[in-house]
Amino acid sequence: MKLRNRIFYTLKPFIPRIMQLFLRRKLVQHQAERCRDVWPIDEGAAAAPAGWTGWPEGKRFALVLTHDVDTARGFERCLALADVEERLGFRSSFNFVPLRYTIAEAVLAKLRERGFEIGVHGLYHDGKYYESRDVFLERAEKINQYLKKWDCAGYRAPCMLHKLDWFHDLNIEYDASTFDTDPFEPNACGARTIFPFMVTGEGTKHRYVEMPYTLPQDFTLFILMREQGIDVWRRKLEWVASHGGVVLMNTHPDYMNMNGQACGREEYPVRYYEQILRHIRDAYQGQYWHVLPRDLARHWVQAAHDARRDARTLRMLVSEGQTSGAAGSGRIINLEGGTRPL
Ligand SMILES: [Zn+2]
Repeated sequence: MKLRNRIFYTLKPFIPRIMQLFLRRKLVQHQAERCRDVWPIDEGAAAAPAGWTGWPEGKRFALVLTHDVDTARGFERCLALADVEERLGFRSSFNFVPLRYTIAEAVLAKLRERGFEIGVHGLYHDGKYYESRDVFLERAEKINQYLKKWDCAGYRAPCMLHKLDWFHDLNIEYDASTFDTDPFEPNACGARTIFPFMVTGEGTKHRYVEMPYTLPQDFTLFILMREQGIDVWRRKLEWVASHGGVVLMNTHPDYMNMNGQACGREEYPVRYYEQILRHIRDAYQGQYWHVLPRDLARHWVQAAHDARRDARTLRMLVSEGQTSGAAGSGRIINLEGGTRPL
């Protein structure tokens, strides 16, 4: 973590919220100028993994919608947000913080019934997961209980603070705590890819799929940068689509103003979100594979498995001298990614 960031996040609990916002806005302004080459688009993140054969049904790109529900206010708005998406023909996942606010099981049941996915977003919404292995393991055990109770496949860390090699202690099929590029996060190191990748552990057989989010977060754009429209989202969407990656959005009902009245200090009009969904639906009709994150994770595991099998077949064919072209092309089949230094 950069020194300026570290100072801010150490002092954060002692700073009133309005002052936090003021400081973060200043910080973001400063960072945005310095990071123009890598945000919102990092050209270095475009490459498809070697051996990549494309999305189901020949679709041009994949679309995944996710939400982190950070507060009780966000929880109250979940069903209304689900209505917005359902009306436009979309589904998403909602990630909840088990011990921060009251979670009505009936709401989770309704979301599931309507085809939405449930995920876990930490245990508390703080940054104290990595003070020691013991602290993490103690929390991991409780997180696992909620993963099981809510029948979840996926996880996202609060504030995106992640240690991918530690996440092997979570019973997950996927994690979505990384991003292709987002210099405004406390842990600003991007995964530099718009594709998922497998995270395999040393000394453990546990593997999971890592899925970076690829469109900027709503909080960054509309609350910190005070953008007045969806131009940045549209531009990044077009870029990810043109490179055939995953358009993975992370938005928060907490900050969406849904009653049409004047927005509060930390709110933006829900119509921005509706506009981007409409834009995707109308301008990219028939071009995207819209999928829940858990289904994308399962697809990716299968694709990695198939690629390994193809690689083995190829090696066998080569050793038996039955092929000429493909073996000589030097194609490396690697959807694995491995553990990245994040
Ligand atoms: Zn959060």
